[in-house]
Amino acid sequence: MAMTKVKKPHAALLASPGMGHLIPVLELGKRMVTHHDFLVTVFVVASDPASTSLLNSPTPNDDLGIVALPSVDISGLVDPKAPLVAKLLVLMRESLPSLRSSIAAMKCRPTALVVDLFGTDAFAIANEFGMLRYVFDTTTAWFLAVALHSSSIGKNVIWEEHVKSQKPLKVPGCKSLRFEDTLESFLNIDRFDGSQFLGTEMTKTDGILINTWEDLESTTVKALRDNNFLGRVVKVPIYPVGPLIRKDRKQVLDKEVKIWLDKQPTESVIYVSFGSGGTLSAKQIIELAWGLEQSRQRFIWVVRPPSENALGTYFTIGKNDGDGMPDYLPEGFFTRTKDIGLVIPMWAPQAQILSHPSVGGFLSHCGWNSTLESILNGVPMIAWPLYAEQKMNAALLTEEFGIAVRPKLSQTDEIVERDEIATMVKMIMVDNEEGHAMRTRVKELNSSAEKALSKGGSSYNSLSQIAKDCLQRLQA
Ligand code: UDP
Repeated sequence: MAMTKVKKPHAALLASPGMGHLIPVLELGKRMVTHHDFLVTVFVVASDPASTSLLNSPTPNDDLGIVALPSVDISGLVDPKAPLVAKLLVLMRESLPSLRSSIAAMKCRPTALVVDLFGTDAFAIANEFGMLRYVFDTTTAWFLAVALHSSSIGKNVIWEEHVKSQKPLKVPGCKSLRFEDTLESFLNIDRFDGSQFLGTEMTKTDGILINTWEDLESTTVKALRDNNFLGRVVKVPIYPVGPLIRKDRKQVLDKEVKIWLDKQPTESVIYVSFGSGGTLSAKQIIELAWGLEQSRQRFIWVVRPPSENALGTYFTIGKNDGDGMPDYLPEGFFTRTKDIGLVIPMWAPQAQILSHPSVGGFLSHCGWNSTLESILNGVPMIAWPLYAEQKMNAALLTEEFGIAVRPKLSQTDEIVERDEIATMVKMIMVDNEEGHAMRTRVKELNSSAEKALSKGGSSYNSLSQIAKDCLQRLQA
């Protein structure tokens, strides 16, 4: 009997600008190809040199293709001072014509379109070509719940009940959002538009994928699936598919960093980094330098020139990487810390550093990718959020997961002072009860993450279900 060859489903994935978006979308693509027999084409709207360099990174096999969409000039379309979200949305919108023509030209037309939170405008293309439509939330289930809830209650309620009164925002079945941890875009109420992250399109898709796993955020995932959540505004299947992080074994540590790390005792080094876009003020950099020095703990610190804008390198990271040694650190810092510290300007191979056995702590801006990389390497954290949903992540890490400490800001000028930094560093690096409990807990979460991703685990099953839906569509 002649066997009919079953065709593979083909998914098109669209990644918005920034390493924090591109990395999880690429990892999702790799996982779909290697574990669920998909063909995947990742379309990338890259606007920073670091993302562009990632486009040439190795793929698992020919079933994963990466296409960089032509860059677009948005300088005449958006105020340079506009919030990051507004710029991202315009960049995505202006890239749609080239996405459409690329898809139209494909011989093997994709069965599904998966976009991240800034790409929902592309669903018009999916509709035109009869594709299934999925959204990929590259952060937490809690962020998704807050965003959906705020979209549904609207600007006036957010203003009255949250911003003006500064009371916590209650989200059905989920952790409430404290005013202090609220995203900047909520506070800027004149511009607030509940649909700015997700669009109303979000609730009309074939599924929402989240870079989390069921056991990590079980209460929130349950709430999102509950029939009563927001009076059932969310009618779509919820698919936790994570944690998806970069495990690029081929990317090796710089020789200097490897030699240095190899010489340090197990779990004795704290890694300090503020993600791909994060920068600190000049005053804060000085305090951080003194705090690290005072703690007398070993450290690797990825430093960037000072900026009053916390998002200082979002669109430029990767440019001038590795420029000479910084001159904005306190005088004599290098000499005094030469036996305990390594300073890396601009950019470091973070995933490799965190997986080195000598690393035992992470002072982080709490970007979700960094958080997942820390959990998957069993490393407790100091939660130092800067912008976007990072304060929400910090609240989860400290209050729900119990794997991080959060420094207090000084009341006078909202910076973290050197004594506080030294105390926090010692709390997670020096053997004490609190640090020990966090280390044990983060290792438990690491095991539960691996279970979710393994065959038959909750995240594995989520992607299997999507594969099934796509096959069905293909055969229809
Ligand atoms: N990253 C890196 N080297 C750096 C800074 C960042 O490799 O010096 C990577 C990091 O490992 C993570 C991503 O860039 O995978 C940053 O994503 P995250 O969500 O943590 O923060 P964002 O940059 O989006 O604020």
